[in-house]
Amino acid sequence: MSGEWKLSVAGALENGRQVFDVINPATEKVFAQAPKADAAMLEAAIAAAEAAFPSWRATAAEDRHRMFRQLARRIEAQAEEYVSILVQEAGKPRKQADIEVRTALYMIDTLAALSDFPEEAMPLADGRVARIFRRPLGVVAGITPWNMPLLQPVMKLMQTLATGNCLVLKVAPTAPLAALKLGADAVDIFPAGTMSVLADENELGPLLTSHPGIAKVAFTGSTTTGRKIMESAAPSLKRLTMELGGSDAAIVLEDVDVEGVAKQLYLGAMYNCGQICTAPKRFYVAHQIYDQFCDALVALTAKASLGDPADPKTNLGPLQNRMQYERVLGLIDDARANGVVCAGGNAPDRPGYFVEPTIVRDIEDGTRVVDEEQFGPIMPIVRIKDASDGLARANRSPYGLGGSVWCADEDRGAKIAAELECGSAWVNAHNAISMDAPYSGAKQSGYGVEGGDETVHAFTQVHVVYKPN
Ligand code: NAD
Repeated sequence: MSGEWKLSVAGALENGRQVFDVINPATEKVFAQAPKADAAMLEAAIAAAEAAFPSWRATAAEDRHRMFRQLARRIEAQAEEYVSILVQEAGKPRKQADIEVRTALYMIDTLAALSDFPEEAMPLADGRVARIFRRPLGVVAGITPWNMPLLQPVMKLMQTLATGNCLVLKVAPTAPLAALKLGADAVDIFPAGTMSVLADENELGPLLTSHPGIAKVAFTGSTTTGRKIMESAAPSLKRLTMELGGSDAAIVLEDVDVEGVAKQLYLGAMYNCGQICTAPKRFYVAHQIYDQFCDALVALTAKASLGDPADPKTNLGPLQNRMQYERVLGLIDDARANGVVCAGGNAPDRPGYFVEPTIVRDIEDGTRVVDEEQFGPIMPIVRIKDASDGLARANRSPYGLGGSVWCADEDRGAKIAAELECGSAWVNAHNAISMDAPYSGAKQSGYGVEGGDETVHAFTQVHVVYKPN
């Protein structure tokens, strides 16, 4: 892809001192070179953000809104270019890339509303009034993964800037281009220093998360990296929002429309080639319908159109990078050793990180493919005795991002969903998140609540001023 990719640092667009290759996962060919930020640029970005903070936090909400609207208009006018970048750097089928761009625009619109967080007055029992303020924290380090290369950076930018903080964003090395373009499109809209977008090859994270100028780390990525960030941020007690890995369970009970539910879960599991944090990843299916459910999934795999993500007919693209591809193939080997791979299981003989949609049956908990987060096109189906067996197995995981229950009686489903140990649970749906509701991981899927007012709370410090009576 031709184009001048730039870092946005402290209000200016800059070349990196070095560049690194960006690989198209559908061809394994280098198609762009991204500028690489170094430690000096990181320091400059943080210093500029610290300098911009006093005036940005004092900027009126309507002025922030105006800038957010301008950014949205700019992205919308270039939507096709963003789609093309996502297809090439993330291997997303065109339609899914388009949905990511539209969702990013929706997020800008929705999260702009966070800019208004007026003071509250709380009358106290002793007659005094507590004036409750939410103070912006300062400079936020945003760190994002590769599975949503535009949406994740947009979320960090909006959550941080709308709440009056400044942002230094470090994006994932294997898919940095959509975020670099976002930075280039935003850099002259926001006051200099308010936001910087940096790309690296995995070197800058520890420097950023331990830096004394950073007040908060807003991280989305794996649980393993999350642990390292907690350690690195501990000495200065930085605020943390940790959106980490997940291994969502879907419990399917005996009274469902088997073909219909199989189709919904299949589509949810295969979207973005399974590389979605809140995708269903473990399937606990009632023994009465187990064979029929597995057969329905196998039939669906026959309809998969695996191939060039730029082709509008493709509905399953490649995995995003070689490391993930090798990991997923390793998990399929484990599935073969411990269960029955009844559909897929192979990497087609062609360039690109493609893996067939894979259905694994007669598999149990305690195997890697069930217990670990696969982040790939694999559906392991575990047979359960009844709902409580499914619930116990679902809750045995160290992860707790999302979960779902599928049954004809929605009241029964809601009771079971209420016992799932996870941040978000659904009945007869999965991954149907609303930004109006709080969103958080339970257990080792992270912490720090977001969504609506909770985002304001997560990105501000409460400050109570007592007014004497
Ligand atoms: P990752 O943890 O490997 O990398 C994420 C980011 O962290 C990248 O920008 C990377 O460069 C950076 N990083 C790596 N080492 C670091 C360090 N020591 N200090 C600071 N930063 C460091 O994750 P990934 O493989 O890019 O993304 C996939 C993971 O993200 C999956 O586990 C997925 O579930 C998770 N995810 C979670 C959510 C959520 O909302 N919970 C959403 C999307 C993705």
